Amino acid sequence: MSLIERDLKVIWHPYTQMKTALPPVPIVRGEGACLFDEGGKKYIDAVSSWWVNIHGHAHPYIAQKVAEQLKKLEHVIFAGFTHEGAVELAERLLAILPNNQQKVFYSDNGSTAVEVAIKMCLQYWHNKGESRTKIIAFINAYHGDTFGAMAVSGRSAFTAAFNSLLFEVEFIDLPTESNIQNLISQISNLKSNTACFIFEPLVQGAGGMNMYEAKYLNELMAYCRKEGVLMIADEVFTGFGRTGKPFACNHVNEHPDIMCFSKGLTGGTLALGLTTCTQVIYDAFLSDDKLKTLFHGHSFTANPVACSAALASLDIFLDAATTENIKRIENAHRQFALKIKDHPKIKTTRQTGTILAMEWQTGNDTSYFNSLRDKLYLYFLAAGIVLRPLGNIIYILPPYCITDDELHYIYSKIEQALNEI
Ligand SMILES: *Cc1c(COP(=O)(O)O)cnc(C)c1O
Repeated sequence: MSLIERDLKVIWHPYTQMKTALPPVPIVRGEGACLFDEGGKKYIDAVSSWWVNIHGHAHPYIAQKVAEQLKKLEHVIFAGFTHEGAVELAERLLAILPNNQQKVFYSDNGSTAVEVAIKMCLQYWHNKGESRTKIIAFINAYHGDTFGAMAVSGRSAFTAAFNSLLFEVEFIDLPTESNIQNLISQISNLKSNTACFIFEPLVQGAGGMNMYEAKYLNELMAYCRKEGVLMIADEVFTGFGRTGKPFACNHVNEHPDIMCFSKGLTGGTLALGLTTCTQVIYDAFLSDDKLKTLFHGHSFTANPVACSAALASLDIFLDAATTENIKRIENAHRQFALKIKDHPKIKTTRQTGTILAMEWQTGNDTSYFNSLRDKLYLYFLAAGIVLRPLGNIIYILPPYCITDDELHYIYSKIEQALNEI
């Protein structure tokens, strides 16, 4: 039996309608920005394998560090115990985050990093004896697939089966020059009851690569700060260079109270999530009263092997060559966007840092289920490019080590698709 046949017998894939989906592509190896299938066919990973891979596949340095760690300590319970990797990663990360971030809480993926952030905020007010339970989020937000993370995400096809069970959230539009004052009055009308505001800074990923300006986010944050509304910056996607700066929050002056990370954290090597917070939040849980404890933890919290991958990834991330690569991709994206923006099939192009999104004209149907999506997906797959459109929106966010030749190959295939599809 082929691997595909064996897969179809036993596997249920994520975000996949198993009745109509094409068989999965069996990948046997990765190198740099490329993946190779059983037959030796090469695919350029233009989406960094669901946005996690920032330094390329099977990176030898990360592999070496992980292998060394595996021979020393694979895992240890993180309640009552600690280990070098978790402490060093927290120290090194806090040193490069906005300087009000003082404590690290580990988990093992982006959704759990968000769950922890929400629970920190809600229990912060609970511990202080204030009844603030309302959460503000953006329309079309995506914060993960567990229940709390779904609740603070926009109501969509992803959440439809569960909508009646999701706690109520106040959804507001993305800020623009024309609506910013309205948004501020909306928040002002709620404020006495508002626990926190959660947002994806600058770019909404799964919601369609929607981008908005730092200065309006900064205005919303300044208002929240003034009113004591806690702020959660979900940098699960935008963290570690995606937006052209180390973190998307580096584009604003205001600091969030809480930040969430996962995806690029380990360079896409192992599952790890973390939530950072201010001293003020941390202090609200310190008490002789045991009921004020944050009762949250996962079996694989702060897994030492995942921490070693994150430390190795951080070494590469802080190397000047990575900063140069990020700039190189930014510039290449900008030139390509200029070249195609007036093509009749392009509705809009938008870019933040290494993320380039292009919206295709589709007549009226702009949904996630647009049939154009499958056509484009297959077209690029046949051309040896992994590119997973969100509905009629194509986006490229490659590993930073992608070569100029690989980038230009992707661009040329997009141009060809524009003329052929
Ligand atoms: C992917 C994502 C999540 C969820 O992370 P998982 O590791 O897939 O659970 C949360 N927030 C944002 C902004 C994301 O892009």
